[in-house]
Amino acid sequence: MKSFELYEPTSVQEAVGILTKFGTKAKILAGGSDLVAGIMKDWVQGDGMPLPDALVDLTTIPQLRGIRIDRNGATIGATTTLTDIVESQELGQQFPLLGQAAHSVASPLIRNSGTLGGNINQRPRCWFFRGQDFNCYKKGGDICFSVTGDNRHHAIIGGELCYIVHPSDTATALLALNAQAKIAGPAGERTIPFDNYFIGPREDVLRENVLKPDELLLEVFVPAPTQGAKQAWMKLKDRQVYDFAIVAVAAVFTVEGDTWRDGRIVLGGVSPVPYRAQVVENQLKGKSIRSSIRQAAAAIRTVARPMSMNAYKVDVAQNLIERTIVAALA
Ligand SMILES: Cc1cc2nc3c(=O)[nH]c(=O)nc-3n(C[C@H](O)[C@H](O)[C@H](O)COP(=O)(O)OP(=O)(O)OC[C@H]3O[C@@H](n4cnc5c(N)ncnc54)[C@H](O)[C@@H]3O)c2cc1C
Ligand code: SF4
Repeated sequence: MKSFELYEPTSVQEAVGILTKFGTKAKILAGGSDLVAGIMKDWVQGDGMPLPDALVDLTTIPQLRGIRIDRNGATIGATTTLTDIVESQELGQQFPLLGQAAHSVASPLIRNSGTLGGNINQRPRCWFFRGQDFNCYKKGGDICFSVTGDNRHHAIIGGELCYIVHPSDTATALLALNAQAKIAGPAGERTIPFDNYFIGPREDVLRENVLKPDELLLEVFVPAPTQGAKQAWMKLKDRQVYDFAIVAVAAVFTVEGDTWRDGRIVLGGVSPVPYRAQVVENQLKGKSIRSSIRQAAAAIRTVARPMSMNAYKVDVAQNLIERTIVAALA
């Protein structure tokens, strides 16, 4: 592994100062399960993706870890571990979807060190991207190997130039829960909804979110759900013990009797960003869920553009959407 300087700031201001000084040569470190144990260990680098000279550890900043819940919602610090989220009873009562999504991430060992901020901001898992020998667009090269290569796990919606799927399960859940991100940088703090946090390859193929090199995710705010809102999480994976999503579905919605009032259906594993399936939501609005769910779920086919080896994901997505909504109703 390439050597690096380790910085252990104790305040957000100090962390931002170090990031500003090093620019693209520094990276934020949280649990390190992706950055150190993946990207750096495996020498994942390219012209547009240099390996860092400095790591700025956020776990030494006490204010960034913890869960606060009040009547407005839950605020979760960026270095709160996935295990902390899974084990929070209060969080589990109000936002079972988030706990289930966090629980479906990786293994207990990784969840013990992996943080919410690290999970949301982890780099993609495309096997070409992770391989040293493939200098693809996402690393600053001039080709996407998945177009003619093995693309069975790649995007079926919104791929263009690069066909990664966003790897984060918690990101999928947070988008469904209409959560917001608080970001810190040299200009101070700003809050943006997760609707606008993730960016696809058309906007910038070298990154997956709006964070600039000198910015960090401080905390996540999840608004309290509407009284009686239904929520559910489902994830299909190849390997049951632990694996990334082939397709994941997070659904949060309100009903009146059996009628869909309002809500969000978000898919993981299908697109370079967590994908809000408005095309399905629109088919359900104001209708009896039980009688329209099959047809509504099939609407996902109208936006899917599968690659040579992943058309099966379209069937999986359609069926998982239907099953998740039925599960939420139950
Ligand atoms: C075997 C294995 C299986 C996995 N399975 C799954 C899975 O099923 N589902 C899933 O969602 N994930 C999965 N993961 C990914 C895992 O969840 C992530 O590795 C972990 O959550 C990252 O957290 P971390 O704190 O260790 O991040 P780090 O490795 O420290 O950081 C990850 C990235 O996020 C950036 N970062 C970290 N914190 C911040 C912050 N606050 N602000 C801005 N940028 C930040 C870092 O710079 C880095 O680029 C798996 C990983 C492994 C190794
Ligand atoms: S899908 Fe993206 S990350 Fe994978 S090879 Fe193509 S450009 Fe690279």
